[in-house]
Amino acid sequence: MHLSLEIFPPRDDAQQTRLNHCLQRLALLQPDYVSVTFGAGGSTLDRTRATVLALRQQYGLTAVPHISCMVESADCIDRMLDEYLQHGIKRLVVLRGDRPDEHVHHGPFQYAEDLVRYVQQRYGERFALEVGCYPELHPESTCVNTELKYLQRKIDAGACAAITQYFFNADAYFQLLDDCARAGIDVPITPGIMPITNYHQLARFSSMCGAEIPRWLGKRLQGFEDLQSLREFGAEFVCRLCERLLLGGAPGLHFYTLNRASATLDIINQLLPDRRRLVHSG
Ligand SMILES: Cc1cc2nc3c(=O)[nH]c(=O)nc-3n(C[C@H](O)[C@H](O)[C@H](O)COP(=O)(O)OP(=O)(O)OC[C@H]3O[C@@H](n4cnc5c(N)ncnc54)[C@H](O)[C@@H]3O)c2cc1C
Repeated sequence: MHLSLEIFPPRDDAQQTRLNHCLQRLALLQPDYVSVTFGAGGSTLDRTRATVLALRQQYGLTAVPHISCMVESADCIDRMLDEYLQHGIKRLVVLRGDRPDEHVHHGPFQYAEDLVRYVQQRYGERFALEVGCYPELHPESTCVNTELKYLQRKIDAGACAAITQYFFNADAYFQLLDDCARAGIDVPITPGIMPITNYHQLARFSSMCGAEIPRWLGKRLQGFEDLQSLREFGAEFVCRLCERLLLGGAPGLHFYTLNRASATLDIINQLLPDRRRLVHSG
């Protein structure tokens, strides 16, 4: 089963220390790769690059950088990808990126599709390209068919796999798989998994990215008086979600770790007995 983990580049020394500790523990899971977000949440591109290189050099992990359209020029992409190639990076997650201002973007690439096509034309088979997709629709989308058409275009432009935005409703993922099958989209679509550790943070992220917290789940999460009980409930809920997804045909799981090891380990320890031998969530 495919297992990948996503981290974000630290913004300061305290976050760097926390990430180091997190990676020491997550490395024991032997994930297929660890992906590093690009410019998200105000992080700088230098820190994405440094984090990508450290994953390989310090932890022996396969690093997969994210890249996005939020760059000033194609030169910026070229320099970055040339360097990644020199360091043996072979896979990228290619995104449009969250626009600082919804309406204005002056760079050379408007949509992920444009960037996928550019990287594919310039680098060919040297990078395998993955893209994002949205079981509950991207927040700017109004129509499933249009969204599927754009996903198809990203694949026609050169993407070989997709990772979903997180969701808590397994049926939305299964519906996406069915819709893709009907539309002739046959690349692996790995569900993105968000551990539940903090209701207010989750509600904030979810309202930004369009992931729905089912009403009953939101009420349950708000009802916990201590964080430990919420986390235990969250790990069990997400574990059951993962089981359903895998039984229903998901090719693997991609965890949004938020640079915290315990929440991801709590789920994987319950879910994957083979990997449980290796790690204690601590
Ligand atoms: C797995 C994953 C990882 C992520 N990592 C990062 C990250 O590292 N950094 C970051 O900033 N953000 C990241 N994001 C967030 C992502 O950048 C945002 O969701 C962004 O708003 C959309 O990115 P996209 O690549 O899906 O865009 P696109 O595929 O370009 O789609 C964006 C919107 O435009 C529409 N659209 C697409 N193509 C066209 C077209 N040709 N004409 C008209 N409309 C079109 C789509 O329907 C959609 O509504 C990630 C998301 C996912 C799912």
